[in-house]
Amino acid sequence: MEHIEQVVKKRFEVRSSRLCEFCKELDPEFPHRHPLDQMVGASRKSTASAHLTEDGYVRHRIVELNRLVSRAPRNAA
Ligand SMILES: [Zn+2]
Repeated sequence: MEHIEQVVKKRFEVRSSRLCEFCKELDPEFPHRHPLDQMVGASRKSTASAHLTEDGYVRHRIVELNRLVSRAPRNAA
């Protein structure tokens, strides 16, 4: 798969990256992610777009959405 190669090329960034605190706190599946999918760029905030990988981005978005859904009042929609 092509974008796995891109991820490998990004490895040099890993040293200057850190775990996404948002996902770490809120995603129960976080420890089961691929390590790269747990990382965000060190200089960035814990946002979806700061994730180094597409999968990390998507999972972050899912966590965000689940949070919105669980907060939303039952009678919405
Ligand atoms: Zn995240």
